[in-house]
Amino acid sequence: MDLEPPIRPGDTNLLPLGYYSSLPRFRERFEQGNPILTYHKLGPRPRRVRLKGLYLSAGMFRQQLTELQAAGFTSGDLNDYADPARARRIVVTFDDGYVNVLRHALAPLAATGFRAIQFLPANRLGRCNEWDVALGEAPEAIMDVRQVRAWLAAGHQIGSHTLDHPYLTRISPATAREQIGASKKKLEDLFGVPINHFCYPYGDWNSTVCDMVAAAGYRTACTTAAGLNLPGDSPFQLKRFTARYPTRNWKRIWEDLRGSILGRPA
Ligand SMILES: [Zn+2]
Repeated sequence: MDLEPPIRPGDTNLLPLGYYSSLPRFRERFEQGNPILTYHKLGPRPRRVRLKGLYLSAGMFRQQLTELQAAGFTSGDLNDYADPARARRIVVTFDDGYVNVLRHALAPLAATGFRAIQFLPANRLGRCNEWDVALGEAPEAIMDVRQVRAWLAAGHQIGSHTLDHPYLTRISPATAREQIGASKKKLEDLFGVPINHFCYPYGDWNSTVCDMVAAAGYRTACTTAAGLNLPGDSPFQLKRFTARYPTRNWKRIWEDLRGSILGRPA
């Protein structure tokens, strides 16, 4: 899992919009580029879950994809996300490789023609989100090798989310380099597909980590910062929109109002 996406100084243009839940408030913005959506867990939420917002029902997931499809958006791919000739494409990403995604996402993805990528912590296949459980979060199963093969066989992609889901800026450079490079090799050896895309656990990165990802041979890396990726932006600092349930509270209503008063996103 990843914590609430940090708002970095350059992301203030997102503030009036918050999380992605449905297209109308995002449509104008999405049509300006190739947005990347972030999902974590799908399906019923177990009791005791602390970060409830990381779960989305299968019905809501399907509704979001159906709405995008109806508006003329098609499936995007991180391999050519920056190609301006490929506008109106949506890249669907999942972090952590949860079994509940395999269970609940395949049918809606197939029905709407979207393909997705799962970012896997390579040492944790067949285990669970132990890095969260250590902090009191409810356990959630991560796909094992057989299940990842089923995900690939359904036409979807995988990328690396390190070996063990550490904060990459808080460990030694040598360990960080190992987490980044060895996870690529392990996943390629296990599944026989190129691992071209990386995702920073917790959205935690700095320029040193970023350079390590590039040097390891990846083509892109996803952060948890929110926003569109524009021509000239680094492919190793990709922004994404975290998809959540719509929240109906006074803070959100105020943000909506403020967004409409202060004008459309740039
Ligand atoms: Zn994660």
